[in-house]
Amino acid sequence: MEISNQESTEAYLGDFASALDTPLRADALELDDDTKIELIQKHFAGIMDILGLDLNDDSLKDTPKRVAKMYVKEIFSGLNPANKPVPTLFKNPFNYNQMLVERNISVYSNCEHHFVPIVGKAHVAYISNGQVIGLSKLNRIVQYCSQRPQIQERLTVQIANAIKEALGTEDVAVIVDAHHHCVSSRGIRDVNSSTLTAEYCGRFLKPDVKNEFLKYIG
Ligand SMILES: [Zn+2]
Repeated sequence: MEISNQESTEAYLGDFASALDTPLRADALELDDDTKIELIQKHFAGIMDILGLDLNDDSLKDTPKRVAKMYVKEIFSGLNPANKPVPTLFKNPFNYNQMLVERNISVYSNCEHHFVPIVGKAHVAYISNGQVIGLSKLNRIVQYCSQRPQIQERLTVQIANAIKEALGTEDVAVIVDAHHHCVSSRGIRDVNSSTLTAEYCGRFLKPDVKNEFLKYIG
């Protein structure tokens, strides 16, 4: 069957727009955290059991519970909007209307294809439209978006969107430079490569503004 160019482009853009959201089911928030932990604990014990591990062993017996708590309360806590950081905004008393850049924000995420770590740095920037955000909140936004099963492209766009929403500005840029354990610890086993993704919005689409940002992050 022939698909016209226009149709296939639209299909692609449609997929791309929805790909910016983490693919969650509508009933994702129906179970509370304690129930999720209880269920994951059982399932993880099942995986360990199938692998032949002795769940009566002192060192292993609490692993299913530890993993379940870690999933729900830590590394996948960003799936729950209740954990979204509340931005602390300040008036911009000095009328600082230049670019603000925060470099080298730690990124700890997990690849949604293999459930192994993605570790790296994010560099984020914005141009104030009258308000400034507490600097640690930029770290919190990066953390919140990272604490989901991710692909790096989506993570980068989600961080940019969260900063735009918090500050009410389009003038945001995000670069993520990360190392994927699914590339280093398995598969091709390349420990040296890292992946760079960037999202430029608003005034950061202008080459001189983008270049200023790139110069700052060195
Ligand atoms: Zn992977």
